[in-house]
Amino acid sequence: MERRNAWLSYDEAKKAEVMALGEAYRKFLSKCKTERECVEESARLAEEAGYRKLADVIAAGDTLKAGDKVYDTLYGKTMIMFHIGKQPMENGMNILGAHIDSPRLDLKQNPVYEEAEQVLLDTHYYGGIKKYQWVARPLALHGVIAKKDGTVVKVCVGEAEDDPVFMISDLLPHLGQEQMKKNAAEVVTGENLNVLVGHEPLVKKDSDSEEEKKEKEAVKANLLKILKDTYDVEEEDFLSAEIEVVPAGAARDLGFDRSMILGYGHDDRICAYTSLDAQLKVTDPERTAVCLLVDKEEIGSVGATGAHSRFFENAVAEVMALKGETGDLALRRALSRCKMLSSDVSAAFDPNYADVNEKKNAAYLGHGLAFNKYTGARGKSGSNDASAEYVACVRRVMDDAGVAFQTCELGKVDAGGGGTIAYISANYGMQVIDSGIAVLNMHAPFEAASKADIYEGRNGYLAFLMNA
Ligand code: MN
Ligand code: MN
Repeated sequence: MERRNAWLSYDEAKKAEVMALGEAYRKFLSKCKTERECVEESARLAEEAGYRKLADVIAAGDTLKAGDKVYDTLYGKTMIMFHIGKQPMENGMNILGAHIDSPRLDLKQNPVYEEAEQVLLDTHYYGGIKKYQWVARPLALHGVIAKKDGTVVKVCVGEAEDDPVFMISDLLPHLGQEQMKKNAAEVVTGENLNVLVGHEPLVKKDSDSEEEKKEKEAVKANLLKILKDTYDVEEEDFLSAEIEVVPAGAARDLGFDRSMILGYGHDDRICAYTSLDAQLKVTDPERTAVCLLVDKEEIGSVGATGAHSRFFENAVAEVMALKGETGDLALRRALSRCKMLSSDVSAAFDPNYADVNEKKNAAYLGHGLAFNKYTGARGKSGSNDASAEYVACVRRVMDDAGVAFQTCELGKVDAGGGGTIAYISANYGMQVIDSGIAVLNMHAPFEAASKADIYEGRNGYLAFLMNA
């Protein structure tokens, strides 16, 4: 059974909406390259739309009622938004979930070293990357350096037009004979992902002796001086820093027809942004509408800011208490009666690599919001596997709202696989299905997605929050 290409259904007015949403997302994606930057921008947009900080509501001694909007964040890396519905929360909420961390390289705690009069930063990669894709390309540094005095210095270099960029070198083909015999996993090793950040030595003042002028590791000394002058940080401050190495530059329109967007971190900011936009467009919801943006999905949803954290249920408990719905039983009922779209990118059918898919059950660019009844690998292992009844509910919501959607699996049986956060929320007994937007070359430094899918995704999320 074939699903229709969404582009075929657009008149001029609709197409203008598709392009406008694509442009707003392209700007978000260009600006937000770390989980911290995503939370900061999402909180700004939420406040603009009338959301209040949960802590402020509590501090003011206020209560919450239908129509109120609140949000909470944890450590600047995960965020939850509530738009209170007319029904008691005990009846359950409609939840959108997506993750805002993306594969990248993180600086090690002791990253700076000099060799052959070049100064480099050592990294440890984060998430599933093909290491050979990260060499010989412009890179940017985003993150924070936390100092002992409690100040946190923000770093973002490599994005502005006149910023310098950074690079990991690759071997020239002329000397690459041995390298080219290796398999792709070993061509570039994790320990070789060292970022070149300078090569000019520090020159000492004229008054110093000749001996002093030839300072050992003068190139490293020069870098540390620049960091001291720019950020007022010492080498030791890297011990408490989180600096992410990401592809430099803005996301771009892709194709003569500008129908797609090429950018870093579609996985999973494409679902996060469209979920956020849907959440902000909710009006007078029947059931409380929730949008949850989590960190650490790419390394197993662990830690305080990952989906396994109690952050979500703690926030729900706080909001219910402010509504006057108190007690453990009410909370448990609320959590178990939720409906959730756990959103993450799907692998779009790629004509260059057609044989990893089974065509009837693959996602196609432009065919709308993608639903995975199950994910997992090797016999659905580790999969949430949404119930048939819940899939029927989601189909009804999408069809009633005229949203283009498709169903898919991640590759053909036993070709590989992968999972998302659905199975974690499902532990509460709530109904959850994996959904999301299809992308080409997922986890590459630049991924591609269709503007039609972004538009159908956002509309599908909004319909879900209002009508599921
Ligand atoms: Mn993902
Ligand atoms: Mn991923």
